[in-house]
Amino acid sequence: MNLLEKIREAGIIGAGGAGFPTHVKLNCKVEYFIVNGLECEPLLQSDKYMMRNNSDEIIQAVEEIGKAIGAEHLVIGLKEEYKDEIQALKTSIGKFNSRVKLHLSRAFYPAGDEQVLVYEVTGRTIPPAGIPLNVGTVVSNSGTVFNIYEAMQDKPVTYKFVTVIGEVAKPSIVKVPIGTTVKEVLEKCGGAITRDYAIIMGGPMMGKRMSKDHIESRVITKTDGAIIVIPEDHYLAQREKMTIEHMKNQAKSACIQCHFCTDMCPRNLIGHPINPHKIMRSIALNEDNKDVLKQAMICCECGVCEMYACPMRLSPKRINVYVKGKLRESGVKWENTTNTFTGNILRDYRKVPTERLVARLQLSGYKRQRLQEGEEINPIEVKIPLRQGIGAGTTAIVNVGDTVEKGQFIGRVEEGKMGANVHASIGGVVSEISDSIAIKAIQAEVIK
Ligand code: SF4
Ligand code: SF4
Repeated sequence: MNLLEKIREAGIIGAGGAGFPTHVKLNCKVEYFIVNGLECEPLLQSDKYMMRNNSDEIIQAVEEIGKAIGAEHLVIGLKEEYKDEIQALKTSIGKFNSRVKLHLSRAFYPAGDEQVLVYEVTGRTIPPAGIPLNVGTVVSNSGTVFNIYEAMQDKPVTYKFVTVIGEVAKPSIVKVPIGTTVKEVLEKCGGAITRDYAIIMGGPMMGKRMSKDHIESRVITKTDGAIIVIPEDHYLAQREKMTIEHMKNQAKSACIQCHFCTDMCPRNLIGHPINPHKIMRSIALNEDNKDVLKQAMICCECGVCEMYACPMRLSPKRINVYVKGKLRESGVKWENTTNTFTGNILRDYRKVPTERLVARLQLSGYKRQRLQEGEEINPIEVKIPLRQGIGAGTTAIVNVGDTVEKGQFIGRVEEGKMGANVHASIGGVVSEISDSIAIKAIQAEVIK
């Protein structure tokens, strides 16, 4: 089996984003292979943990990927404050005589946005609505690269390292079998220390808020990397509850057209024609200006405009999400009118410092938490979704009552369809098959 076939067999999808199947993404020839080790969102530390503890594996995998896709440049993007991780990777680069280079950047948000990272490393702007391949690059998250190393040893994706932080007794980085409930992960970390709490699955800027009522049904998937527990009355939890009508009314009554949202928009700063202040004006004045509203389609939803830039605390990002949804329903697609995009010369001065962003989000206390490491969860039951990430779902190839071993192939993507295979994350007996495969452990086992 070649590397791509091994990656396909192992069921690898992008570990840090929307979950695009990795064997499809790497089926190309490019100039640059870039590893995203920047852990874009504040508070998350799972990727750092892996780079610190598995630098040998990551460097070996990057070399193999580089050969497979013919990449001339192999680059790992990191923040310059990641001293231990930089040291570990440098040691591994020396040990394997690797040609991998480290690209160090300041701690700013969203340094790990794929388009921002490509711009920082290559100076090239990916066209709006485009992908890194358009400018001769491929980007993979460091967690994905670690999974590729495992695939090289014929080990499929069966677990995730998850950062659990915030209002929990033992903030930790935990090794979690895919399909474990969020409830069980929280219990492993001593449980929530606040009675009324909400959960953010992912980072505070782009993660999904979830009520605590769902912790028993929501399970960890291949794309999860963090659970943040916040008080129910926290600014971030309350903000999510605002209706679109309320946001539109706010835009009408309070947008002062200062255009700070546009000045600080990371996509505008790399040369994309997106101007959130104009979208806000169009909404406020009921202008229905299609040329302006269409710009919402190239918003990456990073949240800089509303969580950091706007002095009136308005919601340009969520207005964009709303407008984007409406345009998609009407079949509108983004089309570029030029191939030339030029970054703003003031970009370096307009980057959002992570520390200041964390303070603005009222999360500084969590940033100071020391995370425990090395804990593993041994669940007595998992529910492994048949669809995780972008593409088609898988079809179960086991039956209720079957005994399965950890790592066994249990869900297959149909031939010719885009998706990712699914494997048992614990050994046990298949107890139910629906949109997920439930496995009950026969006996407690330790993840190796
Ligand atoms: S930053 Fe806020 S007030 Fe200023 S233009 Fe943008 S939405 Fe309006
Ligand atoms: S969320 Fe706001 S800042 Fe981010 S890309 Fe969209 S418009 Fe720009």
